[in-house]
Amino acid sequence: MRRFRTGRYHPERLPRCLQPVCPTAAVESVLCVDPCELAARGKRLLLLDVDNTLLGWKGREVPPDVARWVRAVLQAGLKVCVVSNTKRPRRLKELCQALGVPFIRDRFKPSRRMFLLAMERYGATPEQSIMVGDQLFTDVLGARRAGIEAIWVRQVSDREFLGTKLSRLGERILRRWLDRALEEDA
Ligand SMILES: [Mg+2]
Repeated sequence: MRRFRTGRYHPERLPRCLQPVCPTAAVESVLCVDPCELAARGKRLLLLDVDNTLLGWKGREVPPDVARWVRAVLQAGLKVCVVSNTKRPRRLKELCQALGVPFIRDRFKPSRRMFLLAMERYGATPEQSIMVGDQLFTDVLGARRAGIEAIWVRQVSDREFLGTKLSRLGERILRRWLDRALEEDA
């Protein structure tokens, strides 16, 4: 699998037109996101992508360590909501039931709609919300368009939907720019 540089981003180092697709950080896995740190920063709502963020594309079971991490987020006092535009609603429902978290399925990201619906449902402001996902042009851009901070995670596996593979080509180009704003982990 391709190298994935992790660290914190400084969007102010980027041209203004690229700032909407700049995440706060890039991490190896959702497990690197510290629930207590989110709560300490005033976050109240965690929005999550599913495919290649929590589990592999078309996966049927959330790995136990990921399920434990979701429980830790809930225990830290945050609401958790999955935002997905999957074409397999039954699978989404089963995964979310297993995790014990609700979901919103609506228009394709980067539409802001799911993000706005989630904030409305949980009475959270954009500043109190945070998105975690594996794609720049859907998860990160959609969240940023709704004024929400986004954390970019390394995709769980290389297997993915054809459209996503095309989007990854764009990501690779964009990444060269984003790297200029990255303070890489030691
Ligand atoms: Mg995804």
